[in-house]
Amino acid sequence: MRAIIRGLTDADFERLYGTEASCLAALVVVRQAAGMPCPRCSNPKSYVYGRRVGCTRCNTRWSITAGTVMADTKLPLTTWFRAMHLMTSTKQCISAVELTRRLGVTYETGWYLHKRLRHAMAEETDRCQLGGPGDSGSTPIVEADDVYLGGERNEGSGTAGKIRVIAACERYSSGRMGAVVMRVVSSFSNEEASAIRDAHIAPGAQVLTDGTPAFHVLGEARRTHYAIITGGKRPARERDAPFFAINTMISNLSTALKATHKLFSAKHLPDYLGAFCWTTNRRSNMKGMIGALFCAVVAATRLTRRTVYA
Ligand SMILES: [Zn+2]
Repeated sequence: MRAIIRGLTDADFERLYGTEASCLAALVVVRQAAGMPCPRCSNPKSYVYGRRVGCTRCNTRWSITAGTVMADTKLPLTTWFRAMHLMTSTKQCISAVELTRRLGVTYETGWYLHKRLRHAMAEETDRCQLGGPGDSGSTPIVEADDVYLGGERNEGSGTAGKIRVIAACERYSSGRMGAVVMRVVSSFSNEEASAIRDAHIAPGAQVLTDGTPAFHVLGEARRTHYAIITGGKRPARERDAPFFAINTMISNLSTALKATHKLFSAKHLPDYLGAFCWTTNRRSNMKGMIGALFCAVVAATRLTRRTVYA
């Protein structure tokens, strides 16, 4: 699937995925490749008719979108595909307002669609591990930092009203930046830092921080931690300087949040961060992104309106 969609222009995209039938065919290919066992008897064999799937043994029937983040959608598949194309073909992830405008749907529909696509991206980011051996055989170092986001402009340098985030980014010895992960935390505590280590820092990884007290735990459980105390000095701007990668990522995030999400809430920030990291981590293959997002959407867990609006 990724190979098929790779390198599409807007015109190619419309020609190939502009009809309901072509989008359905693409969805069937990806779902069958991932396996669609019968929800009742687990029989791996099924047949597809329209947007429905039937079990060849017990004849249970279900929707082709069941069990994915697309479950229960009333939207045409063409709208889903166009939304995925818009979410991945812009450098800074498109806002819900802009997505709504471009798709010609109501804001409620556009926002919920945007939310489900962000959810699919965030779930994949949740499985991302940093600091393991890279493709080229070299192992990147992981730079981690504590970040405050949001809050009122005139609150001075205090942290009132701000959301706390721990960010980590890979940096190769060549200066090249690898994958990035960001997570909202309640405080910069040992517990929060340990949870991020276990979820996102590969065993054996080397982690560099500015010495924030809780970050010493990033060096436990078979990881190694180094601290460079910067003392609030301006970071060096050279590509291979310590903290260049993480500072660049935090700066990119700040730009993206200002440009596309002028208002963001603590409740939805985890998804925005997950989507930002997802897009950033696939930046070297812009053209392959829609295929990757489509696979993430099919693999993502269900999200209901009730949980979203709770
Ligand atoms: Zn069955």
